Amino acid sequence: MPSTGPPGHAGRTGGTVGRGSSEPLVITGGTVVDGTGGPAAPGTDVLVDGDRIVAVGAGVAAGALPEAVTIDATGCTVMPGLIDAHCHVTFGEPASNDELFSHRPASTSMLLAAFNVPKLLRAGVTGFLDADCIADLGPALRDGIEAGLVEGPRMASGLNALLTAAGGTAGRLIPDEGGIGYAQVVRNRDEIVRTTRQQVKYGADWIKVHLTGSLPNRTGELTVWSRDELLAVTETAHALDTPVVAHCRNADSTLLAATCGVDLILHASHLDDRALEAVVESGAAVAPTFTFLANLADHGALVGAATAQVDIFRGEIEATAAVLRRAHEAGVPLLCGSESGFSLTPYGHWHAREVELFVDVLGLTPLEAISCATRHGAIALRRPLDSIGVVAVDAAADLLVVDGDPTQDLGVLGDRRRLRHVVSRGVPVDLDRPWPERDPLPGEHVGVWSTQLLTRDLLDP
Ligand SMILES: [Zn+2]
Repeated sequence: MPSTGPPGHAGRTGGTVGRGSSEPLVITGGTVVDGTGGPAAPGTDVLVDGDRIVAVGAGVAAGALPEAVTIDATGCTVMPGLIDAHCHVTFGEPASNDELFSHRPASTSMLLAAFNVPKLLRAGVTGFLDADCIADLGPALRDGIEAGLVEGPRMASGLNALLTAAGGTAGRLIPDEGGIGYAQVVRNRDEIVRTTRQQVKYGADWIKVHLTGSLPNRTGELTVWSRDELLAVTETAHALDTPVVAHCRNADSTLLAATCGVDLILHASHLDDRALEAVVESGAAVAPTFTFLANLADHGALVGAATAQVDIFRGEIEATAAVLRRAHEAGVPLLCGSESGFSLTPYGHWHAREVELFVDVLGLTPLEAISCATRHGAIALRRPLDSIGVVAVDAAADLLVVDGDPTQDLGVLGDRRRLRHVVSRGVPVDLDRPWPERDPLPGEHVGVWSTQLLTRDLLDP
């Protein structure tokens, strides 16, 4: 393939679509932040052959094959691509649960997912976990990406989230039985076991469970699974070599998840000492996903979000962070997840914010936080640690070249203008195309008559 890229994008251009038919690649002279938490290494070359890093070190570029494509990374940071451990690629950025559950037919959701998933890659995300997807679309999307039908990062997928009749985070929009949107109600042990097995058969990399739900007339989220029910999921899934991920927005559910063998805990909100101890003991990983809450709290007013609960969200972040800081010290792997897929977390914009929040609210160093978004992401992708998400010999060739020093200013990771190159599976992604834009689809959004009641008092206060 001829080298037709514009200045600053040496070598291959054109969209990366899953498979890499690639020449060797050499990235010269950058400062490598390798994702392990180790110190930045200036003046370091990285050699890539196919989907593999084959050499890392000062001067190793000299050993590159003559046909290798060169990226000059002088003055830039070379680091692993981001792995977003909590992303909803089939949701299509709805502004409400009504839109999510009632305005997203399967066919439309797949079109939206295919339109949106390239944005992840172009924002520096080279791998992600989508644990629950509308109409079980995830495995088909994942396989389509791998086969080159759709441009996108490496993906690990769940199918529908399993819910009890109490529902999940969408209250009474969840029916008493059966499935809707991303959720499926399981009524008894037999159904739990059968559905878990079916999900594995139909391609689930993970089984997702909503351990807490919002019940009208109750504040906060309540634990809506029993121990026996959850054990039926984890034992069935583990017997089929499949891990379990759970949505847990209180301390009880986090304790229950950890003691029942859940592998990845999302949110772990308000976890207490007992829950912390259980998580440390169990070896589960945690993806707190502060980004959605922080976006709502910090920027919601800009986009007309309902901000009545801002103080509650800020309190949830602070209370959770105080204990998760100790989880980190005790060796619990923390993963960065953005919950991208909602109107408050559109695709391609917020995947790196969790890294900053890990520094700001958890007190991690920038290098530690970067590890949570890269090396630890191997857990979400179900890959061995250090086989992906690191800049090391034999690791997968997913790399970023960033104009700036994220160890000094993590903000550069979320700024697409600072992203010079994204390498996915050994092939550079074309970052020069216009960002994908579209018009709304018919029936996509809930029509609202008004945002408040038109009482006569309003006319004549
Ligand atoms: Zn989520």
